[in-house]
Amino acid sequence: MSVIGIDFGNESCYVAVAKAGGIETIANDYSLRATPSYVAFSGKNRILGVAAKNQQVTNMKNTVYGLKRLLGRKFRDPHVQNEIKHFPFTVIETNNGGIGIRVNYLGEEHIFSPEQCLAMLFTKLKETSATALQTQVNDCVISVPSYYTNNERKALLDAAAISGLNVLRLFNETTATALNYGIYKQDLPAPEEKPRNVIFVDWGHASLQVAACAFHKGKLRMLATAFDPYLGGRDIDLILADHFCKEFYQKYRVDATLNKRAFIRLLAEVEKLKKQMSANSTTLPLAIECFMEEKDVRSEMKRSDMETMCASLFQRVENTLRQCLESSGLKLEEIHSVEIVGGSTRIPAIKQLIEKIFHKSASTTLNQDEAVSRGCALQCAMLSPAVRVREFSVTDVQTYPITVLWDASAEGEASGEIEVFPVNHATPFSKMLTFYRREPFTLRAMYSGNLPYPDKNIGTWIVKDVHPSPDGKPQKVKVKVRVNIHGIMTISSASLIESKESVDTEEPEEQSQQQQQNQKKGEAEEKMPVDSSPGGGQTAPEVGSPSWTKRLSAWFSREGEEKKEKKKKVKCIELPIESLTSGFSQVELNQYTEQEYKMIAADKQEKERADARNALEEYVYELRGKLSCEGELAPYVLETDGSKLISQLEDMENWLYEEGEDCNRQVYQDKLVDLKSKGEPIQQRRIEADLRPIVLDDYGRSI
Ligand code: ATP
Ligand code: MG
Repeated sequence: MSVIGIDFGNESCYVAVAKAGGIETIANDYSLRATPSYVAFSGKNRILGVAAKNQQVTNMKNTVYGLKRLLGRKFRDPHVQNEIKHFPFTVIETNNGGIGIRVNYLGEEHIFSPEQCLAMLFTKLKETSATALQTQVNDCVISVPSYYTNNERKALLDAAAISGLNVLRLFNETTATALNYGIYKQDLPAPEEKPRNVIFVDWGHASLQVAACAFHKGKLRMLATAFDPYLGGRDIDLILADHFCKEFYQKYRVDATLNKRAFIRLLAEVEKLKKQMSANSTTLPLAIECFMEEKDVRSEMKRSDMETMCASLFQRVENTLRQCLESSGLKLEEIHSVEIVGGSTRIPAIKQLIEKIFHKSASTTLNQDEAVSRGCALQCAMLSPAVRVREFSVTDVQTYPITVLWDASAEGEASGEIEVFPVNHATPFSKMLTFYRREPFTLRAMYSGNLPYPDKNIGTWIVKDVHPSPDGKPQKVKVKVRVNIHGIMTISSASLIESKESVDTEEPEEQSQQQQQNQKKGEAEEKMPVDSSPGGGQTAPEVGSPSWTKRLSAWFSREGEEKKEKKKKVKCIELPIESLTSGFSQVELNQYTEQEYKMIAADKQEKERADARNALEEYVYELRGKLSCEGELAPYVLETDGSKLISQLEDMENWLYEEGEDCNRQVYQDKLVDLKSKGEPIQQRRIEADLRPIVLDDYGRSI
């Protein structure tokens, strides 16, 4: 069983595997380490990864990309609307306000969700890994941007589930990079020493992420993250493409903004030019043959022009770098180094900004493209019993503050809210909230503070089966709020703490079945400290203070005593929770998984069919060549038989391109067997002739 780490990038994915000898990057079927995050559809099959990107220009409407920015969002999200503007494929609103991607597949219209399309890409990565490693691959760690919300994280988990991947952790990209940095460092400070603080900057295709991390020997603790989710290398491409569009309109009277195919070609050329400009400050050419209306176009640009045109983007990079510095609370002299990863950090202007803000030149200790996938593979190895790897403790941070709100009760207990996880709180982490209720009640969670998304809502949970105590009083209900190992916030359990005087079964003190199960499973977050804080119930019997803070401190000071006092007097009843959160239901997941498996089977069948057709075609060519007058088999067949066979082969070739284009596998296989029954005896005669000893006559001539 192998464990892998996947960097799911907006432009391309990398897969790394943890082996006894270290971490290796897996190459795909094109021997490339990067697999484009593209999936495409045709009348016969799905085309995934490298092949999908390669055929994009000829199949634009059915080639899907940019999934990382669509997952877990609603169709009407202004950001989604902005993305759609640039897509050559069709995106529609589904009945529940979600996103549907409309493509033509197997000659019919199909609508797939972004999760389903991503599952297809994961299928490809899974296959690539299984082929390279010669073993089944299921356990993995997948990277997500640190700014991803609950909805996006859940959507990604759903996609992985559809593809049959078992995700041990969704790992924040910058944290994965930090782990890949820390684990190999032999000289990290001892626990009692001051930490080594490192800033990580990842500027990729669609977004920018910056993180501050503190290292000690054997552990890392994230301090703060900052990001601009809508700023990536592609934004530079768009500005440059826009510039050239205007120029070409003036010079050649062609408008590429009206022609998606031309625009995509321009974007590809502009990206190449951008990369050249990173290495070269002189003026560089841009030329595209037969761009539009059969006109060739050409122009040029130098790095400083690009920097001027993109000044507003670089200003945003500067703001994000400063924001991370500020949020980390670090002084400049406390920063050991600034490590850069991600394709767009190759741009010299970024390195200059890093020097300007951190007073340090950017370090490139890590593999800029593979650091994230390697960090994920390391984390996967640590979480999986299948591989042994050096332990390294990872404490991440909560990106956005999370507030839990509750409704008022029928008895007049007021509604209220509490910020359960402030920004940069350690994760994974669980906290208990205590309520006093006589009936079922509802909790809602939302992100507080500035969120770069239109929807702050996380979910709603209904705590059920709450009933008054036998003497009619409100009961104590403990609710566990948790940010789990994937960075997903959930209300994971609720228990009713019943006074034992009225019951006589014996159960451990305030320990729910769920908690016991979790302890057995040894879940990572259960090892984290569990805080207790009261919530709700303005008429809380033990505390009763009107002031929230006072009640909090009272609770903390009394928690220990209370536990001792009541040790044998309470019983804990697990309460059912109905959760209304985003993501697919199990029924939907099963249905999509089945659909994915059917598509995998159909692709396999199509591949076998194409392989059988190719094998027949190849044999036809090969045999015809060998039978031609100068061919190696010509001397071993009677001329009349030879020309008859050649004409049969010509007929077969014509058939292959006409009515035989689309037959099923068996038809090709049968025809191949038939042809071989004619070709092989001739081949055999030649082999026999070759093996016959050469006998020479007295004059040295062969007889
Ligand atoms: P993201 O992290 O945003 O999801 P990703 O991980 O797929 O995306 P990367 O592979 O890190 O992105 O980076 C790809 C981006 O880097 C592209 O926009 C590409 O044009 C840009 N890039 C790569 N090399 C260079 C270079 N030498 N100079 C400038 N930009 C570059
Ligand atoms: Mg990336």
